Amino acid sequence: MKYISTRNTNNIVEAHDAIKQGIAEDGGLYVPENIPQVSLNELEDMLKMNYREVAKNILLKYLDDFNEDEIKYCVDNAYNVESFDTDDIVELHNLDENTEILELWHGPTYAFKDLALQILPHLLKKSIEKSKDTREVVILTATSGDTGKAALEGFKDIKGTKIIVFYPQEGVSNIQKLQMVTQKGDNTFVVSVDGNFDDAQTGVKKIFTDKEFKALIENNGYVFSSANSINLGRLVPQIIYYFWGYLNMVRKSQIKMGEKINVVVPTGNFGNILAGFYAKKMGLPLNKLICASNSNNVLTEFIRTGCYNKNRGFIQTNSPSMDIIISSNLERLLFNIASDKQYVKKYMDNLNFEGFYNIEKELKQCIDENFWASYCDDNTTLETIKSVYSKYNYVVDTHTAVAINVLEQYRKLSGDDTKTIVASTASPFKFSGSVLSAIFGENQLDNDEYVNLEKLSDLVSLEIPKNLKDINKQQVLHKTNCSPDSMKQVVKNILENA
Ligand SMILES: *Cc1c(COP(=O)(O)O)cnc(C)c1O
Repeated sequence: MKYISTRNTNNIVEAHDAIKQGIAEDGGLYVPENIPQVSLNELEDMLKMNYREVAKNILLKYLDDFNEDEIKYCVDNAYNVESFDTDDIVELHNLDENTEILELWHGPTYAFKDLALQILPHLLKKSIEKSKDTREVVILTATSGDTGKAALEGFKDIKGTKIIVFYPQEGVSNIQKLQMVTQKGDNTFVVSVDGNFDDAQTGVKKIFTDKEFKALIENNGYVFSSANSINLGRLVPQIIYYFWGYLNMVRKSQIKMGEKINVVVPTGNFGNILAGFYAKKMGLPLNKLICASNSNNVLTEFIRTGCYNKNRGFIQTNSPSMDIIISSNLERLLFNIASDKQYVKKYMDNLNFEGFYNIEKELKQCIDENFWASYCDDNTTLETIKSVYSKYNYVVDTHTAVAINVLEQYRKLSGDDTKTIVASTASPFKFSGSVLSAIFGENQLDNDEYVNLEKLSDLVSLEIPKNLKDINKQQVLHKTNCSPDSMKQVVKNILENA
């Protein structure tokens, strides 16, 4: 299997190269040349498999330059009960006769990103070995919240790797900050930056593009890499749980083998829902992929009109992991469905220079066949959390609530009541304040997020997840702070003293 850059069809590499590089040098993303197929018979055989076995099966199809033992090693070390709070790794919760919630948040940081970031470090390490590179990997990441902690947990104590996470002094929640500054592991480094997320991100980008500094570091036995969601090594593992969800519905006799279902995905960078599209193209019986956004509804507009327009205000919402204006992984979808691959570069250049692009008719048609999109605002999100709790006695986080509301809109408008999987991307305890005030009223809210967490746990009678319990009493292990201008120096110090 070969992987092609979306910006240059002559740039063709194997999977391990794509994973090692993250983003292609021409600025493109690597996409599979052909999407591997799964027959109905094969799907039938997968019914008896556990999550790890399904994972090996899917990963081997995409990463065919890895052998079975290597994939087995990666999978077994990523998806296990030491890291996940269920041996099933991902749980399916029945909401009503047509709706299944796919709980993707049973990993160490309680967001769906764990499913990719628990395995990425192993895949990356093997990829670097395969390219006969003996240097140590240094992961540099700026985070606005969920990604940094999930990456830290994934890379923690992985030999031959170090991870440095920069988070903005302003703009991460108190719980998220606590999660990061209490991070264990000898190879983890967490640094706060004076400023906001953009300052931290710009600082990291500067380091990546500083050729002189990069050469200095790389000549000292290190190689930089990033763990962000455009890495192929994050995309492929996300395909697994769509298969797993479908197979579980067949096992529970909720659908017959081969019956089509819909999925609805709360979407930001378009990574999660794109994995659903790949699953469909592989032959998993999926019908509509429903793209749910919050008030940053650039994707809703795009899927409805075919025009992607980033010239709009940024809105801070109560589903912050979807507060995104440029959905990077959309580029992969466009490349996959365009008959003329040159379109993509044209679109991306347009986006760069004018802030928008319009897709050709044939692409729009394909999107209409596969996708549907809508959005909901903060208030509707809170109302949905409340109504789901009163109706089903089930607690959802803000991101999952957006998906449920959009599904309700879809069903009303289309009359299509096909059985549907809702991708649930975070534990409600990660957004305790919003969930608490949605269900029990704003007057319950405390200034201290940990108090909100305890209150929510009491009032809905659910235990606080293990890794969040007493997080306010854990030892702070990371105290380094710096200005955006001194981030480079901080990296240098860390690597010199390590
Ligand atoms: C990252 C994230 C999303 C968005 O996923 P994409 O793959 O970027 O579309 C949704 N919900 C939560 C909780 C997340 O952390």
